[in-house]
Amino acid sequence: MTGYRSVVGWDADPVVAATPARPKLADHLTADVCVIGLGGSGLAAVGEVVRRGLSVVGVDAGRVAAGAAGRNGGFLLGGPAVAVHQAGVGWGLESALALYRETLDEISRLQELLGPEVIRRVGSIRLAGLPGEPRDEDEAADRLRESADCDEQYRMLTEHGIAVERYVGPLGSGLYLPDDAAMNPARRALGLAEIYGATARLYESSPVTRIGPGQVSTAGGSVSAGLVIVAVDGRLDVLLPELAGRVRTARLQMLATAPVAPGLLACPVYGRWGYEYAQQDSSGRVFVGGGRDRFLEQEWTIDTEPTAQVQHWIEQLAGRFVAGPVEVTHRWAASVGYTPDARPLVTEVRPGVVACGGYNGTGNLVGPIAARAAVALGIDGVRPASYFAT
Ligand SMILES: Cc1cc2nc3c(=O)[nH]c(=O)nc-3n(C[C@H](O)[C@H](O)[C@H](O)COP(=O)(O)OP(=O)(O)OC[C@H]3O[C@@H](n4cnc5c(N)ncnc54)[C@H](O)[C@@H]3O)c2cc1C
Repeated sequence: MTGYRSVVGWDADPVVAATPARPKLADHLTADVCVIGLGGSGLAAVGEVVRRGLSVVGVDAGRVAAGAAGRNGGFLLGGPAVAVHQAGVGWGLESALALYRETLDEISRLQELLGPEVIRRVGSIRLAGLPGEPRDEDEAADRLRESADCDEQYRMLTEHGIAVERYVGPLGSGLYLPDDAAMNPARRALGLAEIYGATARLYESSPVTRIGPGQVSTAGGSVSAGLVIVAVDGRLDVLLPELAGRVRTARLQMLATAPVAPGLLACPVYGRWGYEYAQQDSSGRVFVGGGRDRFLEQEWTIDTEPTAQVQHWIEQLAGRFVAGPVEVTHRWAASVGYTPDARPLVTEVRPGVVACGGYNGTGNLVGPIAARAAVALGIDGVRPASYFAT
C-alpha cells in the first residue's frame, strides 16, 4: 500500500536547497574512468581517480545523492553492518576489526574534507531496546537479551582498543560510542561534489541506459573510458542484472518532524538491535527511521515511495524517541542493497566494469571504502580486502 510521495527532510537545509543543478551529459566525452552514481560512494571513487591524476567523468540519473546517499539517517557509525562481535563469527574477527578501523578513519577523512559543521563528531548511542518503559512482556524480554548483547559488544571493543562507554541516561541504557559522528547526508555529498567537481566532470539528470565495453551511454551523450565504476547501492541488480542473487534491493523509510526541544538527542541514537534510529539537528527537527524488520517482505522492492504502514510505525517511534507528540513534516524512502553474508560487493562484472554496492543498510562509511577498493581493483588489479565479497 503506497500512501505518500517521497519528500526528503534533509533537502530543507538552506545549503542543500540553494545548491544549483549540474548539467546533463549532452556530448561524447573521453576519460580514463567513468563513474556511474554520484552518491557518497561514487564521489569517493571520483576523488580517488582525481587523486591519482587521472581524468574522470561522473554521471547520475538524478541530482548528486539522488538515492540513499542523500536520503539516509545520517549516522556515521564505526564498523560493518553486522556488529563486530557478530561479524567476527562469520567473516573472521581480524577482518571485521580491520573494517571497523577503516570506517573510523573514514570519518576523520570526511571531517578533514568537509569540516566539523558538516561532519559532527558527537558519538552515537546504541540503546538496549527503545526509549521508555517496555510496552509488554515480549519487549521487556527482548530488551534483556539486547542488554546482554551490549555487554558482549562492550567487552569485544574494549579488548581491541576501540573506544566505548556504558550509557545510562534519560533514553535508557546501552553503549556510547564516542568516535562515531552525524551529518546531513545531502550536505556531505554536495560538499564532496563541489570539491571534486573543480577537477572532475560531473553530470546530473543523466540516467545511464547502456554499459558496454569501454562505453557508457545516456539518452543525451556517452563516455568512452578504459574503466567504468558502477557505484550504486540499491537497484544495483537492476542496472547490472548479472548481480541478481548476489545483491538484493530493499526499501528503507524515514520521516522528519517539526522542531521539538533542541538537545533531546545529543547524538544519533539507535535501538532495538539497530532497526530503529533517530537523530536531531540543531534546530530541534528529528529525523527518524526504522521498521524494516517489521515489514520485511513488502520492503523487498525497488519502489522508493513511502508506505502508510511503515510510516505509521516510524511515527509512533518518533514519539518514543522524543517522549512526546511530534508533527511530521517530511516522509521519504530510498533503495539499498543487501548481500547474503552482509559483506559488501566489490567485483569486476564485465571486462573493464567494476561494481561496488550491497552495504546492508549502512553504506555511509563502508561505501567510500568499497569505492576506493573498486578503483584499485580496476586500475591496479589489487584484490579487495577479505571483508568484501568479490
Ligand atoms: C532510509 C535510509 C536510512 C539509512 N541510514 C543510514 C545511516 O544512518 N548510516 C549509514 O551508514 N547508512 C544508512 N543507509 C544506507 C546508505 O544510505 C547507503 O548504503 C549509501 O548511501 C549508499 O551510497 P552509494 O553512493 O553507494 O549509493 P546510492 O546512494 O544508492 O547512489 C547511487 C546513485 O546512483 C544513481 N543511479 C542509479 N541508477 C543509475 C543509472 N542508471 N544511471 C546513472 N545513475 C544512476 C542514483 O541516482 C544515485 O544517486 C540508509 C539508507 C536509507 C535508504
